[in-house]
Amino acid sequence: MSNAPTPPLAPLVMIVEDEGPMRRFLRSFLSGSGYRLQEAASGAAALQLAAEKAPDITLLDLGLPDMDGQDVLIKLRSWLKTPIVVLSVRDQDTQKITALDHGADDYLIKPFSTGELLARIRVALRHAAEQRSGVESSVFESADLKVDLAARRVFVRQTEVHLTPIEFKLLSILVHHCGRVLTHQHLLQEVWGPKRSQSPQHLRVFMAGLRRKIEPDPAQPKYLVTEQGVGYRLAME
Ligand code: CA
Repeated sequence: MSNAPTPPLAPLVMIVEDEGPMRRFLRSFLSGSGYRLQEAASGAAALQLAAEKAPDITLLDLGLPDMDGQDVLIKLRSWLKTPIVVLSVRDQDTQKITALDHGADDYLIKPFSTGELLARIRVALRHAAEQRSGVESSVFESADLKVDLAARRVFVRQTEVHLTPIEFKLLSILVHHCGRVLTHQHLLQEVWGPKRSQSPQHLRVFMAGLRRKIEPDPAQPKYLVTEQGVGYRLAME
């Protein structure tokens, strides 16, 4: 008999999706990737299942038969602390922004690649774990970019680059949420505060300055990625 310790339970994913084929596809590929699963085919079932099973992460379709997915999101987010990733055919910017403002951690447009979904799930779960432990690394590194949040220093290929205070603030917010899309509104509020009325255009100016300093090719950003009409994301390797 082996005395090997029991491995920790795989994360529990709640799939909220009314379409059978899509649910089966997610089930086979996520269970094949080692996740435990629970499934709900309606908004009401999702709310009940979440309360009973406390999923580690929720994949939420917005087009549900009994409730609008945005309302399900608001209800879940009122108490559920774990990540919620929206998977939707709704590709309008307003739907994405609304979902992110309602507390979705991420938003993927169907059809998406399985690799992309797995990457987003990993990012969301890692953020949640960091938040729970209260330990967030103060140094971010991806490819040639290194951001030392505590020392407020930024390096590109080991050479220090000097950022303005606003540029550093913008970059540090993106680092805190790396891999996740942040809406223009979210970034504007965090950088300039809720009372200021800077526009997305204002943000674009500072983002352009930041890209010139840290991107190998500012015209084709590899770190500071534009989410068209929605906001920005700091891409990770
Ligand atoms: Ca649907």
